[in-house]
Amino acid sequence: MSMDLRELYQEVILDHNKRPRNRGKLEEPTGSAEGHNPLCGDNVTVYIHTHDGRVEEVTFEGSGCAISTASASMMTETIKGKTLAEVDAIFREFQQMVTATGEVAEHPDLGDLEVLAGVREYPVRIKCATLPWHTLHAAILGEAVKVSTE
Ligand code: ZN
Repeated sequence: MSMDLRELYQEVILDHNKRPRNRGKLEEPTGSAEGHNPLCGDNVTVYIHTHDGRVEEVTFEGSGCAISTASASMMTETIKGKTLAEVDAIFREFQQMVTATGEVAEHPDLGDLEVLAGVREYPVRIKCATLPWHTLHAAILGEAVKVSTE
């Protein structure tokens, strides 16, 4: 990855961190879950409203580092309107992207989320990036447990 691209990616992350999309609480979610990443101190709660197997609304709140906040913000933008099967596929693709070793494959389906591919070089940051996704997964499944990356 060239330095220019890195800077561009950094900018996208900072922008989502500064102005998180879909931040807040849903009044009547069909599912919600809380996630915690003790390594970094990130906390996130994901609220989701699904209807007929499709994500109608998804929001998040919490406090965390720039990576976890940006990941949550981009995640909500990406999965809104998608079917749960599509969300599952995106989740797996995202996880593969941030944990893969070797060449970085292109992930056109991930949109802005692709900027988070850089975290794979920082193992501690991978948990920041994936926390909102694990929490989303729990919210979809309606699991009442608290998600922890540890
Ligand atoms: Zn973090």
